[in-house]
Amino acid sequence: MQKIVSFSKRRGFIFLSSEIYGGFSSCYDFGPLGVELKNNIKKAWWDEMIKRHEDIVGLDASILMSPKVWKASGHLTAGFADELVECKKCHHRFRKDFLKKNKCPDCGGELTRAKKFNLMMKTFVGPVEDEAAETYLRAETCQGIYVNFKNILQSMRQKLPFGIAQIGKAFRNEINPKDFIYRTREFEQMEMQWFCRPKEAPKFFNYWIKKRMNWYLNLGIKKANIRAVEVPKQELPHYAKRAVDIQYKFPFGWQEIEGIHNRGDWDLSNHSKHSGEDFKYEGYFPYVIETSVGVDRSLFAFLCDAYQEVRGGRTKTTKAVKEIEVLLKLNKSLAPIKAAVLPLVKNKSKLTKKAKEVYQMLKPYFMTQYDEVGSIGRRYRRQDEIGTVFAITVDFETLEKNDVTVRDRDTMKQKRVKIKDLVKVLKEKLNE
Ligand code: ATP
Repeated sequence: MQKIVSFSKRRGFIFLSSEIYGGFSSCYDFGPLGVELKNNIKKAWWDEMIKRHEDIVGLDASILMSPKVWKASGHLTAGFADELVECKKCHHRFRKDFLKKNKCPDCGGELTRAKKFNLMMKTFVGPVEDEAAETYLRAETCQGIYVNFKNILQSMRQKLPFGIAQIGKAFRNEINPKDFIYRTREFEQMEMQWFCRPKEAPKFFNYWIKKRMNWYLNLGIKKANIRAVEVPKQELPHYAKRAVDIQYKFPFGWQEIEGIHNRGDWDLSNHSKHSGEDFKYEGYFPYVIETSVGVDRSLFAFLCDAYQEVRGGRTKTTKAVKEIEVLLKLNKSLAPIKAAVLPLVKNKSKLTKKAKEVYQMLKPYFMTQYDEVGSIGRRYRRQDEIGTVFAITVDFETLEKNDVTVRDRDTMKQKRVKIKDLVKVLKEKLNE
């Protein structure tokens, strides 16, 4: 875990927010490579939902909504609260369900009785801090979908069953944010709400479990590290009739990365009741099957799954003793950098000039880096460490034959490719 945290900082994936001021409230910033990885995950999810399903449409609802939304959804009542206990000695606070013993894990002190702690983050809209302007940062993105149910039904002329997908930020005042980016107070969700006839809900619930599990497997998550687990009845969230968690085997144990919920007609009927808007379809409230995944949590899982350390190095061709080499074996579509262009040696003006030309040629098509610093072996290793799919080397033969070597990250095999064919060849290889 510590390795992943320091790797993420060292290689520009994830930084602690406001680090120069000692960090802030367990918030994180995604660096140049982190944001690419994040965008690639979001694109993979969006493509899966929108491009591969003809009956799912997208939405981007606002983060701030009328507080009435949260009243109707049950978030302002006990439904969206965790049980909090406080140590009577050191006054540290903990989520009760996270504690193994009935003692303070920090100082061993006695704990107070549990009280409900609402996770909604309050904010004030407008210049006057009075109650009329009080609202909340959304705690889940899906409420924006439910309140737009009719707008989408009518404007897109949708018919049941159909889905609405959305990606966006959510905020929860977590009692114990922990485990790096696993549990934070600001995070991003990718949620799809599938509206269907009540009697079809069980069938679609199972359909979506399978679909979502396959999404992770197709993106390279190892089968042994992912599982779907039924949530026991007594632990179901306030809105759910049935829930299955997709869990990933993190360094700190099996933990949820995605929730699949049968929300029944909880949301549509409650919004109907509170707003007066009729959300019935053919005389009944549609049921909702929800798939809800955290971008940050899934990114963490993808990082953990891809991170490999190779003792003694990967190359067996040189005698030099190497320490541990890192290989980030991310799926090609998720890798932040697709190609790195490397002149074989520096300070040979013809080689660097040619390499820069190749770099400029590739840059509009792929996330590409140019690197001329250090030996070629070191540069390959630097690229392997961040998961760059192809390393393209410009050597002396390039100057005569107008071709380059393309090195594959996983096999380390090199092939010569004509510069004029390079874009086409890389595109094909990336889509393989
Ligand atoms: P947990 O039990 O871990 O608090 P939850 O069951 O409350 O999570 P859901 O409300 O089902 O989570 O949210 C759906 C998804 O949103 C989760 O599977 C997770 O990927 C993401 N998520 C929820 N809370 C957080 C958080 N505090 N930080 C990062 N991601 C989160």
